[in-house]
Amino acid sequence: MGETREVVIIGSGPAGLTAALYAARANLHPLVIEGTDAGGQLMLTTMVENWPGYRDGIMGPDLINELREQAQRFGAEIVTGHVKRVNLGEPPFTVETSEAQLASRALIVATGASAKLLGLPGERQLMGHGVSTCATCDGYFFREKPIAVVGGGDSAMEEAIFLTKFASKVTVIHRRGELRASKIMQDKATANPKIEFAWNSVVEEIRDASKGALEVVVLKNVETGESSALAVEGLFVAIGHTPNTSLFTGQLAMDDNGYLVTTSGSRTNVPGVFACGDVQDHVYRQAVTAAGSGCMAAMDAERYLERLA
Ligand code: NAP
Repeated sequence: MGETREVVIIGSGPAGLTAALYAARANLHPLVIEGTDAGGQLMLTTMVENWPGYRDGIMGPDLINELREQAQRFGAEIVTGHVKRVNLGEPPFTVETSEAQLASRALIVATGASAKLLGLPGERQLMGHGVSTCATCDGYFFREKPIAVVGGGDSAMEEAIFLTKFASKVTVIHRRGELRASKIMQDKATANPKIEFAWNSVVEEIRDASKGALEVVVLKNVETGESSALAVEGLFVAIGHTPNTSLFTGQLAMDDNGYLVTTSGSRTNVPGVFACGDVQDHVYRQAVTAAGSGCMAAMDAERYLERLA
């Protein structure tokens, strides 16, 4: 297994990288394991306008790059790997990746959350062939095409507004008659002449997986029960996220939605294991709050290790 590390951090979004920065500056030589979605959700974002200190905004991937390099400057080590198993029974904890087995006295979980899907037949088959959860990644493929966005939150508004750069028309499909998004995002979306709303509507069917291309979504009006066909070539699903916690089932305490439960800062129910960012926060879910909680996790881990010494 090799040496026992002081701190291993799983995840490399703003929470994990800020934890790495603080742990590195505390001389804990942290090892960050970044998975296949390295950088987290900011990698799928365009302009971040609410990260303090960048008054003109910063692109999500650029912000992640800055955070990575800042953490590395102080000695954080970043490796790519898929964590297959963790054993949090007795310290040192073990973390098994496809390539190695690691031991660590403290563990920081920053595995974030992933986009939720509608769960309809054809949705997964058409992912990348009309269905997407990332406007930044796929919007360009829909130049002058009609597309739809599902959801009524800030993500859905952000995606819809961004997609108007390419699409001929964007229909926002929302299951209620009122948006969840913040006032500023609502105002931007409703003022955009390319955006239309299908209120009180849910996607009932996605066609046509057998042709390998999206042609039509069938909508159902939940108030009238009526169904209607909407011809679109792109469907962007923006209905929230699920925390990436399956790795910790049966080992770390979770709430009913699978988010890790933290108390007194970033402490989980296992002493020596700390959690930060979206994996434990379903309320704020901002890059800056994730980063703040990453700082807390590193400081909590440092204090825990000091007491062990
Ligand atoms: P969210 O706020 O949870 O909104 C999810 C939306 O999807 C809701 O409108 C919800 O409908 C709808 N929905 C959920 N499950 C659905 C289903 N199965 N079928 C149809 N519709 C469904 O998620 P989010 O928009 O991803 O935002 C998450 C957090 O990130 C928020 O705190 C948000 O403020 C933040 N954020 C901020 C920005 C920004 O400031 N620029 C950008 C993106 C995200 P209901 O409304 O009926 O529940």
